[in-house]
Amino acid sequence: MPALEDNLARLQELLARHAAGPVLNRIAGEDRPAASGRTFRTESPVDGSPIAEVARSGAEDVDAAARAARAAFPEWAAMDGARRRDLLHRIADAIEARAEEIALLECWDTGQAWRFMSKAALRGAENFRFFADRAPSARDGLALPSPTLMNITGRVPIGPVGVITPWNTPFMLSTWKIAPALAAGCTVVHKPAEFSPITARLLVEIAEEAGLPPGVLNLVNGIGEEAGVALTEHPDIRAIAFVGESRTGSQIMAQGAPTLKRVHLELGGKNPVIVFADADLDRALDAVVFMIYSLNGERCTSSSRLLIERTIAEDFVARLTERVRRLKVGHPLDPATEVGPLIHPVHREKVCSYFRIAREEGATIAAGGRAIEGPGCYVEPTLLTGARPEMRIAQEEIFGPVLTVIPFDSEEEAIGIANGTRYGLTAYVWTSDLTRGFRVTDRLEAGMIWVNSENVRHLPTPFGGVKASGIGRDGGDYSFDFYMEHKHVGFATGRHPIPRLGA
Ligand code: NAD
Repeated sequence: MPALEDNLARLQELLARHAAGPVLNRIAGEDRPAASGRTFRTESPVDGSPIAEVARSGAEDVDAAARAARAAFPEWAAMDGARRRDLLHRIADAIEARAEEIALLECWDTGQAWRFMSKAALRGAENFRFFADRAPSARDGLALPSPTLMNITGRVPIGPVGVITPWNTPFMLSTWKIAPALAAGCTVVHKPAEFSPITARLLVEIAEEAGLPPGVLNLVNGIGEEAGVALTEHPDIRAIAFVGESRTGSQIMAQGAPTLKRVHLELGGKNPVIVFADADLDRALDAVVFMIYSLNGERCTSSSRLLIERTIAEDFVARLTERVRRLKVGHPLDPATEVGPLIHPVHREKVCSYFRIAREEGATIAAGGRAIEGPGCYVEPTLLTGARPEMRIAQEEIFGPVLTVIPFDSEEEAIGIANGTRYGLTAYVWTSDLTRGFRVTDRLEAGMIWVNSENVRHLPTPFGGVKASGIGRDGGDYSFDFYMEHKHVGFATGRHPIPRLGA
């Protein structure tokens, strides 16, 4: 495994290559600055040093990208699925070949630790392979004969789509949306998060080098309220696949309403992990720590509420506190680092505001609870105990390395607390009682639930949330249901009587 010094040396080379000049848009296979000539600057969360000047696009740039996607659509949609499959596999090959480069840049751009990001780029390649293999059958349908008709169904790609992504694991999340869209035969305009634009640029370069025709994947950088809004309002864009905050999701629905956009929203969470006294507590402890402190807690599926059965709470929380205090906070490019800096000073301020809120609400800060002095957006991994379900620290998505502990006395109470927020993305249940496992998961309001496991993604399964955590599902065939339209054609099989009017 490379040491911090090796990673830093390599990063300097990469920054000289990828961030020395402005990060431009990529439209119809061409590099383009924003039409206005404007840029914005990004800074590394590690030490606040400038990374890049980035094209600050507006409606004019989005319009050019949407037109390019519309122009490229007919040929791409008509391409034989097997050819699309082969091309998407070539993109996956190229991502694998450049996985280290992607991971290094992403660590610097986002503050996420190398130990997780080095795998995230490979997961991006996996996303391309998984959907590549499904491309040849994406248009398949059914034969549904009736007495007088041969009814056949098939699927056709919906058209040019917009993909809007957040900053927490930007490369992986972009591939998660873009790969199925391309496999389905859609063309794409991608608007990545303004805090972390570097690897989105790399993705479009990789894709075009691998042979993706110009205009099939277009990149428009910019601010959400400018480029993002313009994309959601553009009449040529048939659907918006969005990953981000719940508040932004509802804005996007409103912005897309006049043009009747189909929307797929993967939003926030305040996910519970419920630990019953009969669970394998050593494994439960490992999973509880992993699912909130990995990826700096900037993870939509993080288990940010620990619901712990009161009979074991004292002992479990004591062990948990020890582990949280020992978490290794450090430079994201250090392979030993477990928690890196948060994405941006504004986000760090938001996370830290919950330390004050926790005190005001009467909770106990059992570990952490402070920003770390010095350069960079570092905060101490934090454990909040003595919380009640109605407190803000138990209701609101903090999106940082902060875990709120709530004890419970009965299964009924645990389910009530778990379901008692506006969110419903994931839930985790730890018990050795199989029957209880079934009973509890049946009643939990969440799109995805794991029993005696941390979150382990399996690509054919449906990914998505309920309530304020989202609308729609990704994964397997579910992704194609979003990026494609079902179409029915009925062929008369004989000369059935047609009602004769005015005869
Ligand atoms: P965000 O909603 O602030 O921004 C996400 C993207 O939307 C960015 O590209 C931004 O520029 C753009 N945007 C902002 N306002 C817009 C508007 N009015 N119209 C169009 N685009 C707009 O989210 P974030 O802070 O970047 O990401 C963190 C959030 O993402 C958390 O809430 C997290 O839970 C969520 N998330 C969810 C999932 C999931 O799968 N459910 C995965 C990762 C992150």
